Amino acid sequence: MKNPDVIVIGSGIGGLCCAGLLAKAGKKVLILEAHSKPGGAAHGFEKNGYKFESGPSLWSGLGTWPTTNPLGQVLKALNQKVDLIKYRDWNVQIPEGDYTIGVGDRRFLDQIYSISGKKALQEWDQFIQVIKPIGAAANAIPLLALNQNKDTVFQLFKRSKTLFTHLKSFKYLGGAFGNLVDDHLKDPFLINWVELLCFLISGLSKNETNAAAMATLFDDWFKDDAYLEYPKGGSESIVNALLNGIYSFGGKLRLNSKVSQIIIKRNKAIGIELQNGEKVYADHIVSNADIWSTLDLIPKEISQKWRNERSRTPKCKSFLHLHLGFNAEGLENIPLHSIWVDDWARGITAERNVVVLSIPSALDQSMSPPNKHILHGYTPANEPWEKWENLKIGTKEYEKTKEDRCSVFWKPIERIIPDIHERIEIKMLGTPLTHQRFLNTKNGSYGPALSAAEGLFPGNKTPIKSLLMCGSSTFPGIGIPPVAASGAMVANTILGSKFQRNLIEELGI
Ligand SMILES: Cc1cc2nc3c(=O)[nH]c(=O)nc-3n(C[C@H](O)[C@H](O)[C@H](O)COP(=O)(O)OP(=O)(O)OC[C@H]3O[C@@H](n4cnc5c(N)ncnc54)[C@H](O)[C@@H]3O)c2cc1C
Repeated sequence: MKNPDVIVIGSGIGGLCCAGLLAKAGKKVLILEAHSKPGGAAHGFEKNGYKFESGPSLWSGLGTWPTTNPLGQVLKALNQKVDLIKYRDWNVQIPEGDYTIGVGDRRFLDQIYSISGKKALQEWDQFIQVIKPIGAAANAIPLLALNQNKDTVFQLFKRSKTLFTHLKSFKYLGGAFGNLVDDHLKDPFLINWVELLCFLISGLSKNETNAAAMATLFDDWFKDDAYLEYPKGGSESIVNALLNGIYSFGGKLRLNSKVSQIIIKRNKAIGIELQNGEKVYADHIVSNADIWSTLDLIPKEISQKWRNERSRTPKCKSFLHLHLGFNAEGLENIPLHSIWVDDWARGITAERNVVVLSIPSALDQSMSPPNKHILHGYTPANEPWEKWENLKIGTKEYEKTKEDRCSVFWKPIERIIPDIHERIEIKMLGTPLTHQRFLNTKNGSYGPALSAAEGLFPGNKTPIKSLLMCGSSTFPGIGIPPVAASGAMVANTILGSKFQRNLIEELGI
């Protein structure tokens, strides 16, 4: 594409949502992606007929309309639908035992009763009654109605009648979820469970996880008829749907195109330089890369105060990954997701204490060859970068450390598939170094470790004119719904009030 209006650096979900809305508004949008696959943390890759996932496994709020999920709203705006498979249950391996726990009230209540008894059941019920109005308050202001310009005030004013009814709950939205947990839950299992959910969503403890994010999640997951959605064909199907929307409005994507520098003239971003020396100019540059990688793209002498401040942003830890392709014979009723916790007492954020296993082919046979399964295991944001930063991929020491550290996966897998080792056809282990390499995130981090107790994530504007940011380093934070919202907010900031109002009216949100 010649002379794009907007360049988006990175094709993560945030970048794609931003590009899609900009293209819909008639802007010439060019997405430049460093990797050979689009989607960032949500990209898929294929090997010997197995379709492997690199990141997200929990999706919801995409299959029904209306939805409060910003990604569902952007897909609708781009006229895109994704085939989704509904499910409710997870397999959970916790110190108390192995359980089937999932979303939807009934099943979880039965499990609370069997683990902690009647009193815990009442406690949970009261907790949900406290959380409900907070979730409703958070949902009363669609994230797509927010951005960093004047229109946010208009949107809030327009909704003032509805918002007034939620007034009492607003004070909780910006704070940490932990305060609500501490005030209302005493049962150790319930506290541990909520702590686990917080960690899986934000990469942080309950005392650092945003209350609005958790309240909306609870609103979604703990109602009677709640269910989760697995995109048929994996995360790649979501990425492809966003891309189809972008292409339908004339937007373009270039893969294998790593940006090495943002070109800045008189404190205004005017273009980018690719690693191969090619320069592309545009009116606006949007970085979907994380904050540390974005700062690396800006010449050192520019906005030094901001750079210094933002470069000190603390990082969530990284991941260990295990990808398996294996023989599925005789493995009927294998669980789609399993979450394993070794020891609550070590703390939910402790290294190698939590493992997530996902076997998408248990639900969607198109993910693997006939009679085979794929498995993606990961330790969610609890692997320290410091253990890896001085190791070199390919050396004996690296290979040994990789096998040692990734041995954490076998115990939970053997609990579901005792003879897994005889079944394996493909095995790939991933470390923070591989995570950094393929997801292009600094130190393989999950994102900024910004505590909700200290405030919100930073907005999408930068002190450099025409340079904006979207994705998990910006408000509202980490995870698929938040990054989709951040992408939409950047599009709204660039396009202005009229587009934003029309979009909200078109979607009826
Ligand atoms: C293992 C794992 C499991 C997860 N599970 C869930 C889940 O179940 N549910 C959920 O909601 N969230 C989950 N998440 C979180 C969620 O996937 C991420 O927060 C989200 O996808 C990040 O999107 P993003 O827009 O910030 O961009 P990213 O995904 O970070 O993508 C940024 C893109 O920018 C590109 N890029 C970076 N620098 C450059 C450059 N210089 N030039 C060109 N391109 C560049 C990268 O290659 C990348 O493609 C999970 C994450 C991981 C890693």
